[in-house]
Amino acid sequence: MSVAESRLHNGIRNGAQYLEGLRDDRDVWMQGEKVKDVTSHPGLCRGAETLARFMDRQFDPKYQDRVTYEDNGHRYATSHMVPRSVEDVIRRGDAFYEWATWSNGMFGRTPDYKNASVMAFAASAEFLAEGRPEFVDNMRNYYQFVRNNDQVLTHTLINPTYNFAQAKEGKYDAKVALEVVKETDAGIVVNGARLLATLGPHADEIEVFPSTLLKGSAENIPFAFAFAIPISTKGVRLICRDTYDHGKSTFDAPLASRYEEMDSVVIFENVLVPWERVFMYREPLLCNRAFADTNAVIHMMHQVVCGKLAKAEFIVGLLCAMAKATGKDKDMNVKGMIAEAMWMAESVRAFRFQAEALAAEDQYGTFVPQRRPLDTSRNTFPKMYPRLIEIVQLLGSSSLMATPAEADLTNDLADDVAKYFQTVNLNSEDRIALFRLAHDVAVSGFGNRQVLYERFFFGPQNIMASIYYDLYNKDDMIARVEELLKR
Ligand SMILES: Cc1cc2nc3c(=O)[nH]c(=O)nc-3n(C[C@H](O)[C@H](O)[C@H](O)COP(=O)(O)OP(=O)(O)OC[C@H]3O[C@@H](n4cnc5c(N)ncnc54)[C@H](O)[C@@H]3O)c2cc1C
Repeated sequence: MSVAESRLHNGIRNGAQYLEGLRDDRDVWMQGEKVKDVTSHPGLCRGAETLARFMDRQFDPKYQDRVTYEDNGHRYATSHMVPRSVEDVIRRGDAFYEWATWSNGMFGRTPDYKNASVMAFAASAEFLAEGRPEFVDNMRNYYQFVRNNDQVLTHTLINPTYNFAQAKEGKYDAKVALEVVKETDAGIVVNGARLLATLGPHADEIEVFPSTLLKGSAENIPFAFAFAIPISTKGVRLICRDTYDHGKSTFDAPLASRYEEMDSVVIFENVLVPWERVFMYREPLLCNRAFADTNAVIHMMHQVVCGKLAKAEFIVGLLCAMAKATGKDKDMNVKGMIAEAMWMAESVRAFRFQAEALAAEDQYGTFVPQRRPLDTSRNTFPKMYPRLIEIVQLLGSSSLMATPAEADLTNDLADDVAKYFQTVNLNSEDRIALFRLAHDVAVSGFGNRQVLYERFFFGPQNIMASIYYDLYNKDDMIARVEELLKR
């Protein structure tokens, strides 16, 4: 079998194949310059390399059974598996969690996140027939394409806000928002901008869907669509934020040197989207229902809760290691601070457990994790994570600044460093390594971007909370209050 054939028959790609796929003429800009090759650009290459090594693990016997599954003799990422039982849901959760532990949740946008959404839309594709019948096949074909070719996806759901009062009413403005400007026999032509594509420069494809949260109004017809296209499509331009990978060693910047998943604003300049890649069109009210009615938002939340569990556990581990370094772990107050972090990790574990154990079949024959615990996690983790980081700062204090560089372990400062940076339980090198890690978690640009990400990546907290309130079954509880008042 030729390499091309084996790729066709095997729905998982290795790291080299993934990196090769990124070497196209994508239009990526960062810090004032056009990026020639994201796999060799100093601010982007190590993030790509990390994801490539993760892709390699799909072939590693140690992980393969967990992160891939077989279907008709071919192997695919487990995140593409359509769950037909509670056990399948748990298996998907185990795969999400496994992927997340590889970066301890610090590379949150691994491909399983978007795979969860594509799987859900394809499994419930009849929903799209409410728009146009041909969209059903478009979505099913797209799922097969992504699954068979192990594509890495990013997505962009939000139009830039031009006028807040208008945006609040669900109205978009053609001055900035992405809209359809022309229709041709070949497809639709779109023009405008979208916020924000995490992993954009490192992705093969971009999904451009309506928001999971922000609702468009009935007059938003030109802004109502869902489609997916290659990142390298003519007219697609990614404008990146500054990189947090400043080329430091893995000792000096243990996280930023490995897990830079770049965020980018996406500009579409008269981009032609072929009809076969369009999934919804000119139906704002259908777009508003899409993520909820297909349960895609629940499958995405499932991936997220598993990732947040790995991340919260990692912060607990970090705090315990920091406390142990100086023997602070014997102090009652310190134990109390770290116990608070432990409660958060255990809450997330409980959310995951309940959601999986109480998974149930939906109207499309797909098993879906229970929404409420996942929604609780989605609403509470944006508050938990900043608090976790605050605890790292409170416990770390000046040690977060007592962080000489790796070079100082061997240069003229070496004797001073060996003597003055040791603690009761750690030699200087190990102590500096630990607190440089804590610095990257809680003080560095990389660490602060993680906090912003956790606060916002699923949407504004007030809107998520108000949706949670609306979906909550309040009647039984109100009835109990009324019952007591009647007595
Ligand atoms: C690091 C990072 C990565 C991201 N990655 C992605 C991605 O990959 N794909 C993607 O599509 N998006 C992504 N996002 C965007 C994310 O979805 C948005 O940030 C989020 O929905 C908030 O929208 P906004 O940034 O436009 O903020 P705004 O809408 O301006 O909200 C900012 C604040 O304004 C207030 N506010 C907003 N709307 C209302 C309202 N209707 N009523 C009252 N108050 C309101 C809230 O207090 C909110 O906290 C990412 C964001 C960040 C920070």
